[in-house]
Amino acid sequence: MEYEVVIGLEVHVQVRTKSKIFTSVGVGFGQDPNTLTDPVVLGFPGALPVINREAVEKSVKVGMLLESTIPEITKWDRKNYFYPDSPKNYQISQFDQPICEGGKVEIELPGPSRNIMGEHMWVELTRAHLEEDVGKLNHFDSDSLVDYNRAGTPLLEIVTEPVLHTPDEAWAYLNALRNLMIYGDISDCDMEKGQMRCDANISIRPVGQKELGVKVEIKNMNSISGVRNGLAYEIQRQIQTAKAGGAIHQETRGWDAAKNVSYHMRFKEESHDYRYFPDPDLMPVRIDDAWRERVEGTIPERPFDRQRRYYEDYDLPFTVTSVLIPDPELCAFFEEAAEASGEAQQSANWIVNNLLGELGNAGLTLADSKVTPAHIAELVGLIKEGAISKNIAKEQIFGDMFENGNMPAAIVEAKGLKQSNDTGELEPVCQEVIDANPGPVAEIQGGNDKAINFLKGQVMKATRGKANPSLVDQVLKELIDKKG
Ligand code: ADP
Ligand code: MG
Repeated sequence: MEYEVVIGLEVHVQVRTKSKIFTSVGVGFGQDPNTLTDPVVLGFPGALPVINREAVEKSVKVGMLLESTIPEITKWDRKNYFYPDSPKNYQISQFDQPICEGGKVEIELPGPSRNIMGEHMWVELTRAHLEEDVGKLNHFDSDSLVDYNRAGTPLLEIVTEPVLHTPDEAWAYLNALRNLMIYGDISDCDMEKGQMRCDANISIRPVGQKELGVKVEIKNMNSISGVRNGLAYEIQRQIQTAKAGGAIHQETRGWDAAKNVSYHMRFKEESHDYRYFPDPDLMPVRIDDAWRERVEGTIPERPFDRQRRYYEDYDLPFTVTSVLIPDPELCAFFEEAAEASGEAQQSANWIVNNLLGELGNAGLTLADSKVTPAHIAELVGLIKEGAISKNIAKEQIFGDMFENGNMPAAIVEAKGLKQSNDTGELEPVCQEVIDANPGPVAEIQGGNDKAINFLKGQVMKATRGKANPSLVDQVLKELIDKKG
């Protein structure tokens, strides 16, 4: 029997705010345990929550980025359960009136090779709701310790419809979602820091069957490729179980990345087990038109829209856009250089091939770069007007610019690197090279055009790379013709 795979993802994204969702204590990662707490976070009796406006506003922004509907009224509910990660024994979440309903995310499937653009499709969303994150349990041999620093961090849960069918689609969805969150200044979505977490739901059904199969939820995958691996494993496990005549049980499984296997954690609770009810300490929130419009005005160009613009306006190849697009600061840097130089492709090449390479070697980021868009634009301009060759730029200017931040024109001046475009200056050098190399000259005269490259190399050497290569070519040919 052939099976069809069905996947739905529940992604939690920590929304970047200064303070927690229901109290003024700060949000952070990596601080001493239990230092980012107060009576509200710790659930002391009588401590009352107050909603964080920024958390609501950023969630509205996410909803707009995801093309969701944002209902006028949204409210919070208590999700009741007993576990040490929640000191109140309930989590404040949203049940029937989430902040975002529906929505869709454009994704790009991996192409046949890294250099080729993949196919685009849209992933339909169910909803996104805003809740509080819970504390973190750290398990040791015989003890477990709890850290409530993370508790109360605003957390947006974004839920897809069961519409994905392969681990690659899930991988593409998570990358696209992450890029949207970065563009919206919502989160860096660093999964290792828990800024983005993904629960994957998987079922299989015989091809042709309408009804969905029993789903298994997988947790604890701490990278986007980990999700892809976890899904691939679970799909095989379910298909093998079904083919062997076994039953698939609704359960929650954990992912062990080191062993590359999933393992049973618990049988899944049903929604009614949580006894959801409206939180009596929190008023519903109204998101009125004025607020909506203000947020609408902060929505940036989406990553794939920018990618299409780069293809259409600048004709940049996929290899280059795939490096630029995920990083909005790099894109801004590129656009400034392209604007100033009028040479988008050349600017992009210098940034992607040279600047990022040097930064990587030095263990630096763009923020540390002494090279600015103005440096790139000036360098590209000098090459374009023939003042320097690409080789000189690469070998004698870029490194200086990178180390010291000097402007390229000033480096050319200081080092005397200006390319010789003067035929008068070139002629004697070319003549000398011709006289010293009768062999190659005879070959050229005999019709072997390629032999000229050797002579050109000699002239470049003699001029320490400063001669304009196409001019050298021209002068050599003229002198040889005259001679012949
Ligand atoms: P629960 O109440 O168990 O959390 P939901 O209906 O809220 O389940 O769905 C949670 C996630 O699981 C959603 O992303 C949804 O698309 C996905 N999902 C639901 N049913 C299935 C299924 N049979 N197979 C795969 N994914 C599913
Ligand atoms: Mg659910």
